[in-house]
Amino acid sequence: MNSLSRCSSSLDALLIGMVLIASAANASSNPAKHRGLQHCADGSAIVAGAEEQDFADICQGVAEAFKFFVSHAVRPTEAVTIEVSKTIPAEAGPTAAGCYIEQKRRVFVLPYNAFRRYKTWFGVPIDRAIYRALATHEAAHAVAACNFRIRNPTIQAKEYLAYAATLSSLPPRIRSRALRATPPQGFDSLERFRPMLYMVDPMRFGAEAYRHYAMAPDPSSVVHAILSGEALSD
Ligand SMILES: [Zn+2]
Repeated sequence: MNSLSRCSSSLDALLIGMVLIASAANASSNPAKHRGLQHCADGSAIVAGAEEQDFADICQGVAEAFKFFVSHAVRPTEAVTIEVSKTIPAEAGPTAAGCYIEQKRRVFVLPYNAFRRYKTWFGVPIDRAIYRALATHEAAHAVAACNFRIRNPTIQAKEYLAYAATLSSLPPRIRSRALRATPPQGFDSLERFRPMLYMVDPMRFGAEAYRHYAMAPDPSSVVHAILSGEALSD
């Protein structure tokens, strides 16, 4: 089974189902606390367990991920399902602030108040813009997972796309600051993006991925080469 076949082929059809589920869930939740399922106004995500401001930021972050892929003519095929939880699944590692679990097709992110305790991200003090970037990153994983045309994309393929989307979506002032914290090492070839680099220094991997993407003569061709398995597939 390839990754495409696990995903819905129609965002509209899926959204109809999601809206029904959300209505039912909201009926039994406490609306004052906004703790039930909520769906983003643009239909890009269904969010569980979010406080009001977190929900708004997550929707904005997911919309940025959608915008990134649509700008490369890659179509998101389903709403992203997101759970806001103080506990991130163990498989994401002990320090993860968010993750996308492919088997469940579900994103998990910390609430902002818990994420803030990390203090900085890419050397930038964590604020609401960075929280939105966290949502963008995980949503980008979800969108990419439904658009890879190979069975088992590599970690470097997944993370290259997620970081390119994340850093592209940051306000330029914050992006510049984040990139300054990780001086360039001249990654002019995709061969440099190895799994070990991501494991050892994910921030460097992310910064170099964004630089490589942004400096490519045709960034869309890089995105499509990765999704098709022509690039970063071993
Ligand atoms: Zn990632």
